[in-house]
Order: sequence, then structure tokens, then C-alpha cells
Amino acid sequence: MMKKHNRSYNFGAGPAMLPEEILRQAQEELLNWQHSGMSIVEISHRTPEFSDLVSETEHDFRKLASIPNNYRVLFLAAPARAQFAMIPMNLLRGKKQADYIETGIWSKLAIEEAQRYAEVNVAASSASTRYREIPERNSWKLNENAAYVYFTHNETINGVIFPDVPSVDDVPLVCDMTSSLLTQPLDITRYGLVFAGSQKNIAPAGLTLVIIRNDLLGDALPITPSIFNYELLDSYQSLYYTPTSFSIYMAGLMFKWLKSQGGISEMWRRNLHKAQTFYNFIDQSDFYYNSIEKNYRSHCNIPFQLRNETLLSLFLEEAQKANLTALKGHRLLGGLRASFYNAMPQAGVDSLIEFMEHFRSNHV
Ligand SMILES: *Cc1c(COP(=O)(O)O)cnc(C)c1O
Repeated sequence: MMKKHNRSYNFGAGPAMLPEEILRQAQEELLNWQHSGMSIVEISHRTPEFSDLVSETEHDFRKLASIPNNYRVLFLAAPARAQFAMIPMNLLRGKKQADYIETGIWSKLAIEEAQRYAEVNVAASSASTRYREIPERNSWKLNENAAYVYFTHNETINGVIFPDVPSVDDVPLVCDMTSSLLTQPLDITRYGLVFAGSQKNIAPAGLTLVIIRNDLLGDALPITPSIFNYELLDSYQSLYYTPTSFSIYMAGLMFKWLKSQGGISEMWRRNLHKAQTFYNFIDQSDFYYNSIEKNYRSHCNIPFQLRNETLLSLFLEEAQKANLTALKGHRLLGGLRASFYNAMPQAGVDSLIEFMEHFRSNHV
């Protein structure tokens, strides 16, 4: 039978697994953080200790992701989806139109929200293939009056990812990297703005990181709420309102952990290996399958199906007993999904494959 582990391997897309080391450190520091006699969630965000934590966390993030000085980094208390509104509000900058690339459920929702503030041109869409691929760059119909071009790097629900950074002329490229930031090297200089919610791959929920090129700050739509105004938030070093202190602290621990593991290039090597092992297993199987075009398969989130769908609830039940949790597919797609973020070890992927082989042999 399957080995039992104390902690489950959590394959959920988010909130997702965090490294045990940093959970233990947080546990240890909870009653008395840095000799303050208080926990991180009790200390005022107006103390020097807290602003030092924010600066150090930003510094570590900049080193890890190679963010140069002409980009600002904001730590916002907001879900990732707040950016769906904040981006048009802040980045139209006197224009009315914006280009969006529709590649799955998250980009579709971003389009719907942006339509409240902008004239949205869907420059390319893979909806007709049910989001099984990313539209080739040479098929995009960009609008020359667009204020920016928006895309979703990794579609968490559909399991497709951009294989490279699309090139655009002279217009800011804006990207949702909620489920892929720090899983592979990033060339931020290709972008005007990149954002990521924390709960997929970085920290507990509640925090969103925004990386924005300096020259794009300012000139927000007059209706923009103050708490949504990038320029204002930046002028307060992300402390305009009470920040999500615990998530910032956990993100800081995560950045140090990533550095100790060898940084992003090492994570990328491990992530590719995890995904490759899993896709190889699925592709040679007559029992499971994944229907995403090979060039666009995500290394972060892998939706897959059982050829015999009637076994789905039994699969989930038995997986849970083997401490392999949260494998149920998104409610909009059904089936199964395994997410392999930075904190998922190769051993977790290997255990999942072992379980799947075992399940198959009992049910063919
Ligand atoms: C999860 C996710 C979101 C939404 O995150 P919330 O914090 O729930 O708003 C947006 N985009 C992508 C790519 C996601 O994976």
C-alpha cells in the first residue's frame, strides 16, 4: 500500500502548498517576532521593524526576480482580481482602448472586467479550441491605438502557458503571472506591468505583487478609488493602508527559501523536471489523458482526465486516503488537476504517479 505522510501533498491550485521549513519558522516566531514581544500579526505597520521587513522583502524579491531600478514593486492588500479593474483604471492614460489576448478562463474574466472601463479589443482568442492552445503571435490583430496589450502567462484552470514572451512594438505589455511568477526566469524589461496574487505560489492569500515600470505611474482615470491608484500606493511604499502583514512576512520567508534552494534558475530546472515526469506518465497511459497542445502545456497546473469518467469520485477518495489532496479539477472544467508549484517536491509528483499506477492496475 501507499506510504503515509504526516503532511499531505497538496496539489491544489491555490491556496497552495508552502515549504514545511517556512511554516515551521513562522510557527516558531509567532509569539515573539524579532524580539518585539509580539507576533507579526499584532505589530503596528507604522513601526520601524515593520517597514524594515517590507524593505527587506522587496530587496530579496528584486534580487530573486532581477528587477531593475526603473521598476517599482508594490505589495497590495487585494485579491489578484482587483488588478482586472486597476489595470485599465491606471494604464489607459488618456487613451480609450486596450488589447487583450483570450487564452482561458482568467483572461476571459479580465476582459469582462476591463470592458467596464475601456474599449477592449480581443486581439486573439483560443476560445474556439476550448483553450487548448495559445494563438500564434502572427495571428494577433493588435490595435494601434491600444494603451497596452494584456495577457495571462499561465492559465491556471485550463493548463496552458505562453511558451515565450510575445513581442509587441512600443506598447506596454501587461501580464497576469498569478500562478507562474518565480517558477521560471523572468525578463521584466519586456513588460510594462506584471502582477501576481500570492496564494498560488508565494504566500498565504490576501497579497498581490505588482511590478510596474516607473514611467507608467500617474494619470489614472478620475474615477479610480485612491486605494486602487498605483502612483498613490507607490508614494506610500505600499503602506497607504494597513498591509496584509502576515502574507508579506510569509512572502519574505518564501523569497529567502527560494534563494537557499538555488534561486529561480534552479526552481525552473526542478519545475520542468516535475512536469516532464508527469506528462510522460500521462502520455504513455491508456487510462489517463491530457488534451492540451504539447507546445503550450503548463508546468504549473496540469488538468487531466480519466478515460473512464465514472471512476472520478473513487479516484479522489482513494487519493485522499493516500494523503494526496486537492486533485479535483476546477468546477468549470471538471476532471482532475495537479498543481506543481515551487513548494511541491519531486517526491510529491512521484507519489502521485505511483498512486495513479496503482489505481489503474486495480481498475482496468
Ligand atoms: C487564481 C488566479 C486569479 C484570481 O486570484 P484571486 O486572488 O482569487 O483574485 C487570477 N489570475 C490567475 C492567473 C489566477 O490563477
